[in-house]
Amino acid sequence: MVNNDIIREEEISSKGPQNKKPCYLYLVLPVYNEEELLEENIGILQNYYRVLMAAGEIREDSRILLVDDGSKDRSWEIISSFCSAGSVVEGLKLSRNEGQQTALYAGMKEACELGAEVVITLDVDLQQDIHAIPRFLAAYRQGADIVNGKRTSRETDSFFKRHSASVYYKCMKWLGCELLPDSADYRLMSARALEALMQYGESDLFIRGMVPTLGFRSAIVEFDVHERTAGSTKFTLGKMLSLAGAGITSFSTRPIRLVFLLGLLVLLTSGIMMIHILVDYLHNNAVSGWSSILASIWLLGGIAIFSIGIVGEYVGRAYMESKKRPRYFIEEKKIHKDKDDTDL
Ligand code: UDP
Ligand code: MG
Repeated sequence: MVNNDIIREEEISSKGPQNKKPCYLYLVLPVYNEEELLEENIGILQNYYRVLMAAGEIREDSRILLVDDGSKDRSWEIISSFCSAGSVVEGLKLSRNEGQQTALYAGMKEACELGAEVVITLDVDLQQDIHAIPRFLAAYRQGADIVNGKRTSRETDSFFKRHSASVYYKCMKWLGCELLPDSADYRLMSARALEALMQYGESDLFIRGMVPTLGFRSAIVEFDVHERTAGSTKFTLGKMLSLAGAGITSFSTRPIRLVFLLGLLVLLTSGIMMIHILVDYLHNNAVSGWSSILASIWLLGGIAIFSIGIVGEYVGRAYMESKKRPRYFIEEKKIHKDKDDTDL
């Protein structure tokens, strides 16, 4: 499913920046309860933006859009304090916590509507190395509409996260959804790729699964991962499981088919058992073993409940999608376009 026409890392760095035209870039960062590191990291981003502008990489009106995903701490206050007119920082506040994927989507949509030429998404804890941005832009200039970041190592992840991610990516591949391994949501998308993504209707978002299905020319850029400088991960186990579930149910119906095959297998086995029981009965040596009966009851019960669970997961998610509820509501916007300053 992944586009084969991929520009590799080596090909990007080997080309020089001839005829470089500054890009109108929107950096989109989701924020959820990040008061400990927000001020410092916005400062780092602002400084780096100045460097990129001076180097002719990005246009002077490029912006950093912070999407507050319903934080309960001082995050929005901090974002607002940076959003004065003339600043490169802009803010968007969602009415409640919708999850990182929805926050990213909201930011990308806003940037798209504001006419961004390219959008790069990035986590606000800056674990993903921002110094890879010029290489993302170089790949874009070479014709890639989608540039995926690929981490060079997973050393900063916990043992559990590292191994569960690897198993999950293998499962997804087997289920028919090809994901780029070791890719977070550090990605560049061109305006036309974004417009295509915005046409997807599902409310249960799994962006890293959706993007490869868009097609377009893509590229891969490798980046280093740093430790979080402050605060703790906002990805609780529940959020990770929910995202993993969205990935499976929105991209594969194979689990349902497996349930069907499992049922068929059990049915065949019970047919053989029937013959066996009948033969034993006719030979008058029926065994009065309760353990074998109990074992089969538990086994069959388990299989039945598990299978219903898988089907239920699909039915539940299909039900939620069928409601066609809005994905999010914007409570406040701090966007300062040159012409009409808005502070909704
Ligand atoms: N985040 C979010 N909503 C959430 C959880 C996380 O917007 O419900 C943001 C968070 O502020 C950060 C990014 O998503 O910018 C990645 O989260 P985190 O660093 O906690 O994840 P990890 O790096 O541990 O996977
Ligand atoms: Mg992080």
